Amino acid sequence: MTIISTPGELKNYLKDKNQSIGFVPTMGALHEGHISLIKKAKSENELLVVSIFLNPTQFLKGEDLDKYPKKDEADKKICELSGVDVLFFPQAKDMYGTDEVSLQAPHVRGYVLEGASRPSHFNGVLTVVMKLLNIVSPTNAYFGKKDAQQLNLISLMVKQLFMSVNIVGVDTVRQSDGLALSSRNVYLNEVQRKEALKIPSSLHLASRMVSRNILESKLIIESMREVLEPLEVAYVEILNREFELAKYVEIGNAIIIVEAKVGSTRLLDNIWL
Ligand code: AMP
Repeated sequence: MTIISTPGELKNYLKDKNQSIGFVPTMGALHEGHISLIKKAKSENELLVVSIFLNPTQFLKGEDLDKYPKKDEADKKICELSGVDVLFFPQAKDMYGTDEVSLQAPHVRGYVLEGASRPSHFNGVLTVVMKLLNIVSPTNAYFGKKDAQQLNLISLMVKQLFMSVNIVGVDTVRQSDGLALSSRNVYLNEVQRKEALKIPSSLHLASRMVSRNILESKLIIESMREVLEPLEVAYVEILNREFELAKYVEIGNAIIIVEAKVGSTRLLDNIWL
């Protein structure tokens, strides 16, 4: 595995490679969720590039940038064992200057749900993803469906800015009790870890309701909110795949999405039906 830390070196390294390139951007503290993206990218491309970059511009003031888990050495091992060809490991100074051009998330889709509680978060996400895609020029780039709004906005950016990369969404990996894997799960103590299970339970209930043909969003959301109590719920919504609110679940075109706080940890989850 080749480890590269500057954009210029990586562009140079990749420029004569006449191979399909799979790319998996991450912020590190790698877990099985990241590994499933890496494995899928490995199986679908000739050359596999993974980036680990804790992007400061997607964190708002007062968020967990400073305490975000860092596991650089373990992450490198995981990448090596997973068959990563190139690990891109830049510092913030390699990625950003002082007077910067940046992308603006769309005014509607970028400022609802996650974007409502974290205004400007998606500006940072889109800007860094754009930079990374321009550095790597991958054939395929892989993102988790767990961050459904992020995946939706990146797909929209690629389409609206006429970029040629293919964006691939990958299913959410969960622990055996249903909790979606997240780098932020390490913030949870034992009691909070149990409380957090209300999130997948609420989604499980929604999917059972849908399988009993209860399709009205309002009814499903009410029942989910009961399961989620007493967590601090930021939102529970039912959307179509275009990320518009849906009054009814349309099977094959629905995303049921939850964000709730457990202690001070914000957890996101969703199911695609
Ligand atoms: P992050 O390091 O949190 O920025 O995540 C890097 C990528 O891994 C993003 O595309 C996430 O959506 C994806 N990801 C995070 N958790 C999971 C999971 N449990 N299952 C599948 N993909 C995930």
